Amino acid sequence: MDEKAKQAAKERREKVLCRPKSAFDLLPENEKASVDKCSAGYRAFSDNSKTERNCVDYCVELAKSRGFVEYKRGMALKPGDRIYKINRSKALALSVIGTRPPDDGLNIVAAHIDVPRIDLKTNPLYEDAGLAYFKTHYYGGIKKYQWVAIPLELHGAVGLKDGSVVRVSVGADAGDPVLTITDLLPHLSTEQYRKSLAEAIPGENLNVLLGCQPAENDEGEDRVRLAVMELLYNKYGIIEQDLASSELSLVPAFNSRDVGIDASMIGAYGHDDRVCSYTSLAAILEMDKPSKTAICMLADKEEIGSEGVTGMKSAFFDTFVEDVCCSLNSKIRHCFENSRCLSADVCAAFDPNFPDAYDKRNSPRLGYGVGICKYTGSRGKSGASDASAELVALVRRILDDNGVCWQMAPMGKVDLGGGGTVAMFMAERNIDTIDIGVPVLSMHSPFEIVSKLDTYMAYKAFLAFYKSE
Ligand code: MN
Ligand code: MN
Repeated sequence: MDEKAKQAAKERREKVLCRPKSAFDLLPENEKASVDKCSAGYRAFSDNSKTERNCVDYCVELAKSRGFVEYKRGMALKPGDRIYKINRSKALALSVIGTRPPDDGLNIVAAHIDVPRIDLKTNPLYEDAGLAYFKTHYYGGIKKYQWVAIPLELHGAVGLKDGSVVRVSVGADAGDPVLTITDLLPHLSTEQYRKSLAEAIPGENLNVLLGCQPAENDEGEDRVRLAVMELLYNKYGIIEQDLASSELSLVPAFNSRDVGIDASMIGAYGHDDRVCSYTSLAAILEMDKPSKTAICMLADKEEIGSEGVTGMKSAFFDTFVEDVCCSLNSKIRHCFENSRCLSADVCAAFDPNFPDAYDKRNSPRLGYGVGICKYTGSRGKSGASDASAELVALVRRILDDNGVCWQMAPMGKVDLGGGGTVAMFMAERNIDTIDIGVPVLSMHSPFEIVSKLDTYMAYKAFLAFYKSE
């Protein structure tokens, strides 16, 4: 073949066949600084957002610094207004009002800010063999063996009978002690080794070590337990019974890090779904006066089925949108019917260490752009919202028109498992919804991995979507 024929053959191929391309090869030189800026912003967000409450506080701080004000019912609204509303300290809706009425539809990006973790039981404190512990009940889908023998931080809130709330934080500040859950030494693990990974660390054994120093000048029982509770009383003014009305969680006691010899990745606890939370937030903070009203919804409780008053099933979202509609003479049902939503959640990147779990031809790769997931669910699309061909086409167009690298991102092998997101709960509201998000390795582990470029592409995708007609 001569050069001309070779070129023609290449063009013929490229015209009809699709070939995955690394986002690194497609990124324009003048956007490299933006990738670094996005990564730095996300790492700061991640380090300040170890629980939903911390995350909401940090988001509100960022939003206020960019001119957002807390929405109060009945407030007059006009195009360009920037508002937010907090749901019970643990979820957050932000909006930038568009020039078109809400009846014409909203552009919504919905992510979740809860992350799998280990929660305390409601009567947690006990002493055994001279050691004090908290009993726990884990939250969300964790592989329990990953949570033993690592340093843990304790975060959360204790509600007191007088209506006040005490915030607790142990392990995050330099000089703080950390907590941990012990594992059995290999020398004595013959029995443990015979068990499956799922059974080797029973949930009931995830007891957190708190101390071994007995209270002085006391001759009663459980002197270590007493000493621990006295320390908590002295620091936070709480007594043991107050733990009944607490939300205290254990999370890994380390901050995000650049990962790889090439530092092309970020490792952190909670990429699922803080990486999409941050990028959807950062994008709405950039909005000025969009055509359609933009909404960024950061929900709680996705990891346990979007249940509860702070989850995506909660009428909090509908109430907020209805209030906005009321202020602008629109009807919420008409508004929803014309709205569209990106359910911004991470997807499972192909892991060459475990090829058997994936359909290699249908799995997103790390560094190949933001992943679009037409349907989640498992075994016959059960529990999926399954976006329409028309909606996928619209999203493809928006992303292509705005230089966003994307890839299709179904999850794993057909009969092997699966997952869900908030997509179906948005779709139930008569809102066209599709899943899109950043590919993750080691999902739900204490140290998840994302690519910096994919994170940046998610930010670009959400920005383009908020601006779309
Ligand atoms: Mn998720
Ligand atoms: Mn998850």
